[in-house]
Amino acid sequence: MRHIAIVGSGPAGYYTAEAALKQWGDHVRVDIFDALPVPFGLIRSGVAPDHQHIKSVADRYESTALNSNVRFVGNVKLGRDLSVAELQGLYDAVILATGAPADRALDIPGANLGNVFGSAAFVGWYNGHPQFADLHPQLDADTAVVIGNGNVALDVARLLAKSPEEFEGTDIVAHALATFARSSVRRIVILGRRGPHQIAMTPKELAELAALRRSHPVVDPADLPPVEADAPLDVNLRKSLAYLRGFAIGPAPDRDEADAEEVVIEFDFLAAPHAILGIDGRVEAVEVERTRLETGPGGPKAAGTGELYRIPAGLVVSCIGYQATPIPDIPYDEQGGRFANVDGRIRPGLYCVGWARRGPTGTIGSNRPDGFSVIDKVASDLPDNLGKSGRAGFDAMAEERDLKVVKFTDWQKIEEAEVAAARNGSPREKFVAVERMIEAAART
Ligand code: NAP
Repeated sequence: MRHIAIVGSGPAGYYTAEAALKQWGDHVRVDIFDALPVPFGLIRSGVAPDHQHIKSVADRYESTALNSNVRFVGNVKLGRDLSVAELQGLYDAVILATGAPADRALDIPGANLGNVFGSAAFVGWYNGHPQFADLHPQLDADTAVVIGNGNVALDVARLLAKSPEEFEGTDIVAHALATFARSSVRRIVILGRRGPHQIAMTPKELAELAALRRSHPVVDPADLPPVEADAPLDVNLRKSLAYLRGFAIGPAPDRDEADAEEVVIEFDFLAAPHAILGIDGRVEAVEVERTRLETGPGGPKAAGTGELYRIPAGLVVSCIGYQATPIPDIPYDEQGGRFANVDGRIRPGLYCVGWARRGPTGTIGSNRPDGFSVIDKVASDLPDNLGKSGRAGFDAMAEERDLKVVKFTDWQKIEEAEVAAARNGSPREKFVAVERMIEAAART
């Protein structure tokens, strides 16, 4: 018998559990830990609320979760309730599937001003993550600046641009829906420090921007390279460029003449944030430095030109990537924002998968091969039957420490209550407070 602990119940955690079941069948016991009483990590707290089709992948995890050789051990937090060393004492292998939940720091003056948020916080807020429920972003100014040219920047810009009706059928939480419905934001500027050929935005997500009801995206034609220059690009990037070219219909409309409801989403390329300026502790403008591309060993780099200009803005969301949260005594790769590992192995007995292993890149599906390859390593590193106590040992420790463990069947009760509380047409109304989740789990 093998006893495996997976820390983190997002896609990487569940794909790894699925791989363990494939590898050992009834000869393995897998416990999947999560700090929250609810499973599925990024699917619940990261994927945009209007991307329900992506969230349906959780059905696949549910079939793994319901296998009797797998347990969900919710509401148990590493560092608070037990340590990695203690887990290693109980289980043959500990696999960190803790993702990359922290924002990469926006290292410019003024980044700590009020109403300046990292995407982990802002996305966590509109997705009802308990940690960010009290963020209270103010959407009372005409202009918002979104920093970064990846898909998270597109998610944030899209949600800021939506009319209340466009949230129908989504599971956006009530507090965020109410804030978006009252929003005064009518101009969203997306800053990219490099050019259109260097974007990390994918075509499907750009297409969604083009399909918004009251908003229109605008690219300055002067920012686009000549069309022939797109030919050598990878096929997806070429498709993305086709969208940007479609958005290049001229300068953004004059805000004074625009329909009061209309929202303009402006792409500003070759534009690096230089400083955030504030008044009374809150952002009032972003100072931007015009850049030019310089060729470097890893591809074109943004170099400052010294030319500065200001964008008056009352909200800034920095979507410049994420990083794993370091854990004491576990080697960490600062530059990659992940645990130091070789193909998922931190050391024999301790592994990492998903964003904790690779850094915050790739699609949800990229985590599946990751999980399978790490389970192969566990199989080759460790003999069968190390004599660890596994589940029984953890259960004894949980009782001794009076941990309020939430099981998968408890989560199903939470889910049932969330579905019952849903607004018309919405799949669920998420609980945003851990105490409410635990209360729902305790109901008979
Ligand atoms: P990302 O794709 O790595 O994009 C980060 C962006 O931030 C890049 O444009 C980067 O520019 C820019 N940036 C980094 N540091 C900066 C700085 N100091 N100043 C200004 N700009 C800076 O990260 P992400 O958008 O967070 O997405 C993470 C992963 O999740 C990606 O794989 C993404 O595709 C995926 N995702 C997918 C979906 C979807 O499929 N619908 C939705 C959301 C996220 P440089 O290129 O110049 O470094």
